[in-house]
Amino acid sequence: MTVRPADYCPDCGTETTAREIEGRERRYCESCARPVFQNPAPGTDVTVVDDDRVLLVERAAPPGTGEWTVPGGHMEADEHPRTAAVRELREETGVSADPDDLTLIGTDLLDPFRGKYVVNVGFAVPATDTAGKPTAESDASDVSFFTPDELDGDEYELRPHVRDRVDAALDALD
Ligand SMILES: [Zn+2]
Repeated sequence: MTVRPADYCPDCGTETTAREIEGRERRYCESCARPVFQNPAPGTDVTVVDDDRVLLVERAAPPGTGEWTVPGGHMEADEHPRTAAVRELREETGVSADPDDLTLIGTDLLDPFRGKYVVNVGFAVPATDTAGKPTAESDASDVSFFTPDELDGDEYELRPHVRDRVDAALDALD
């Protein structure tokens, strides 16, 4: 299993070939006699909601450097999505939360970046259940609370899924 089409088998290193399997063209390892499936990478994010405002971070690294997004990232292999979401929140903004205080707001398939697809698990948490003043930390160049109206203008560039995520978070915690 790989997140991008595999030119080489991740198990034995043999160069893969193209083969149609189950109606899709897939990479295939002749040596292992099995397909090397491409699958999405799981990610998670958490929207902190303070009354009618949401906490966003300005990305300091690709994809989307300079764009505003919800704090989040990839899970470690053995990490629960809730645990990963609060870890990413803490790493990017210095804000801490209890994984059990998160509300699941939805799952999305994000647009691919260099061929990698991400399935994202979105959470929301009220600011009253968090601790710490937001500051820009790892992977973030700025942090701020925004109302939906502020995000609708062209002043701030958003990651593609962020506007929907903000609406879902505000609805979920209404
Ligand atoms: Zn192989």
